[in-house]
Amino acid sequence: EAKSAGKSQYKQFSAEMFDSLMFKSKLKNSLGSAIQNQEISVYFQPIFSIDNTELLGFESLCRWYNPEFGHVRPDIFIALAEETGDIVNIDRFVLTQTVQLLHSLESYCPNLFGTVNFCPLDFAQTDLIAFLSRLLTKYPLTQTKLEIEVTERSLLHNDSESGIQTILNALSKLGVKISIDDFGTGYSALSYVKHYRQYISKIKIDSVFIRDIVADKADSALVNAIIKMAEGLEMKVVAEGIETHAQRTTLNQLGCEYGQGYLISKPLSQDDFLTYINTKNSRATA
Ligand code: C2E
Ligand code: MG
Ligand code: MG
Ligand code: MG
Repeated sequence: EAKSAGKSQYKQFSAEMFDSLMFKSKLKNSLGSAIQNQEISVYFQPIFSIDNTELLGFESLCRWYNPEFGHVRPDIFIALAEETGDIVNIDRFVLTQTVQLLHSLESYCPNLFGTVNFCPLDFAQTDLIAFLSRLLTKYPLTQTKLEIEVTERSLLHNDSESGIQTILNALSKLGVKISIDDFGTGYSALSYVKHYRQYISKIKIDSVFIRDIVADKADSALVNAIIKMAEGLEMKVVAEGIETHAQRTTLNQLGCEYGQGYLISKPLSQDDFLTYINTKNSRATA
């Protein structure tokens, strides 16, 4: 009996593993053609003033809809795309859409900023600066309003420190700023914030610290400390994952300036985002 139970367990386990590996490799194979098949789209999530919910900027987030697999979650396909290398083309697609959108909104929303997410492989491309420079020549922006969101992985786990330093300098010359994403969840966060402080414009506090901020004294103490640190370093703070008014009120009391989350808006398609901007603007001028 034990033997047959063990056997069926083994069979089940191996079938599951087989399925998931098969599934992953199928997903990986489909990623290569996802862009040219127009399966990748870019969504835009408002970043707002915590104080008065005014629209200040947006984060660009990619979405993948595949006819066979349906909607695939970003946390699943981004990791696979990093393994296959397709992430570089995906992120350049998102970057291009973002710069085009910012460019087209220049006169309507002159101060709006937009952010894109980058991973270590994006920084490892030797033509990154040339690509960005061409893009910004084609779609000029009158101010520095493009930001690249990075986690500590990009700053720490890159081949050479001087390599990343050179890239950050070149980005800065192009008027591109850096935001630290998912702050507080990685390693050595403080040392790299100090080291690269001249390039960093914003720190995005991960939603895990925002979720229970109203009731959990430890969370509010940590967020308070991050805000004070950022002030001292002349950086802005964005709180991620704000879902309730109570969270927004607490963050406002702590002096947090920027927020992002379902309370104000989920990530929107370009059409819906433009409608959102129009509604906001007509309210502001009404
Ligand atoms: P992230 O950069 O930290 O993006 C924020 C995530 O939080 C997004 O998930 C967003 O939809 C979600 N979010 C925003 N507000 C709320 C809220 O109030 N409640 C909850 N529960 N979630 C909220 P998404 O779009 O699924 O993306 C997940 C992660 O995938 C991103 O985390 C980012 O690391 C990565 N990612 C997404 N798009 C791209 C991309 O174009 N390039 C790269 N390299 N990574 C991307
Ligand atoms: Mg991000
Ligand atoms: Mg984040
Ligand atoms: Mg996150």
